[in-house]
Amino acid sequence: MTTAQRHIAHFDLDAFFVAVECLKNSRLKGKPLLVGGSGDRGVVAACSYEARRFGIHSAMPMKLARRLCPEAIVIRGDMESYGKYSRLVTDIMQDSVPLFEKASIDEFYVDLSGMDKFFGCRRFAGELKTKVLKESGLIVSYGLASNKLISKVATDEIKPNGQLEIAFAKEKSFLAPLPVQKLPGIGKETAYKLIRRGVETIRTLSEIPVEMLETMMGATGVELWRKANGVDESPVIPYREQKSISTERTFETDTIGYDTYGAAACRAGADDRSGRFRSAQAGQADRLRDGEAALFQFRYGRQAEDDRLYECGPYPAADGAGPVRKAV
Ligand SMILES: [Mg+2]
Repeated sequence: MTTAQRHIAHFDLDAFFVAVECLKNSRLKGKPLLVGGSGDRGVVAACSYEARRFGIHSAMPMKLARRLCPEAIVIRGDMESYGKYSRLVTDIMQDSVPLFEKASIDEFYVDLSGMDKFFGCRRFAGELKTKVLKESGLIVSYGLASNKLISKVATDEIKPNGQLEIAFAKEKSFLAPLPVQKLPGIGKETAYKLIRRGVETIRTLSEIPVEMLETMMGATGVELWRKANGVDESPVIPYREQKSISTERTFETDTIGYDTYGAAACRAGADDRSGRFRSAQAGQADRLRDGEAALFQFRYGRQAEDDRLYECGPYPAADGAGPVRKAV
């Protein structure tokens, strides 16, 4: 059975938070800029390409980043503006393409299948890039390929301000020389596990018998093998207005106790400028609507496995000390 060839574009805004800060204040342009918490335990949420030259990357402790580049400008971040610009770009997508997925605040997958027959995917994607810049002031890079996985890796390879098309049947050879960490979904742990066993490139990973990877890592191993071979059949999931919010807060000190989490969640909700949560905060609504759960992820510990997801319900009252229980 053969399935029709797909044309998927992955669009990713370049250094999104930083780019928005530069639109708000043009004097920040071209400077090493860090967005994130400036306290002792703050982490870099985003950094400009100028800052990256000092070896700084996102998720790095702010303290270390400032040591690497003492002249860097640190900005606390402004989720309201980022949300506003993200919605603006989402609107541009919505006006321009029939089928797209919003993968994150600054990332989109667009299904251009069928477009090749009457317009040309490359031309269409290129014009969309130009349109985003013209209408939002933001630079977006994109990758064009036969599936989501390859288009995303292509974008990552060509950033910033780039576009890269991977021809049909060239997926495997494109991935082959790249280090295993470049495969989306490979965490630090898995990458370390592979590298320790001498598997450094995607080529080597793709050549390992799939049964062996299954023995080593179970279903994850099979999934990895498929990715390493350029296979990804996942569809572009049509965008619909998101009801959930996402925000991150690092505590100043280590903390335990559900009440503290509840209060923090309440503040996080308020920070996110979501109308629903603000009104809950103000005590106008004690409970989320039926079927709606408020999920909060609290990171306590350095390991990703230590993260827990908690459900808040009824949503904490104005004093913030509502019941919070483990959800999953
Ligand atoms: Mg981005």
